[in-house]
Amino acid sequence: MERPSTDVCTTSGSRPVPASNPPRHHRPRGPAAVALRRTLDRAPWACGQPARRPRAGLQSERTSGAVEQDRLDAVLARIARIPFRARFHLRPPEREYVAVRGMDAVRRHARELIDTRLGPAHPAKDGRQTPWGGHPVFRGQHATATCCRTCLQINHGIPKGHPLSERQRAYVVDLLCRWIENECRAP
Ligand SMILES: [Zn+2]
Repeated sequence: MERPSTDVCTTSGSRPVPASNPPRHHRPRGPAAVALRRTLDRAPWACGQPARRPRAGLQSERTSGAVEQDRLDAVLARIARIPFRARFHLRPPEREYVAVRGMDAVRRHARELIDTRLGPAHPAKDGRQTPWGGHPVFRGQHATATCCRTCLQINHGIPKGHPLSERQRAYVVDLLCRWIENECRAP
């Protein structure tokens, strides 16, 4: 018996319809289409569409709301356009670390690492203080350009030479955790 592949959805008939290319008549345009589209988004062919934001799982309870996450994702998208930054991804041991320890622990570590290595006005060995990996937070710091005070200033507009404020620390930690969560969700 033939089984449909996971990325192809079947309509009520037998003809498979690629999820990424639904029939044109399923995607009406115009203001009246919004409610219909909501219904269609739950239709069988939609199961392979990019998922709406997951409500549970890796997402830490302590992250802020959807608007805040959209803002973080916009920053991450901007940084990811820098070829050097885009090269960094979590490697299997670092993914494993997140899976075993959980995001709440990773977020705690992120806060501790940012407080000690990035938070002071003049961090020790600034520019060389962040290992290339070994902890998902270190990996994330290179991917998100939060590895040293110079990168933080150039890429995030946070000036050097003063201790990071509580708000700035929280921003860096939120950004790192968002990147790590996104990495863990990626196939
Ligand atoms: Zn740096």
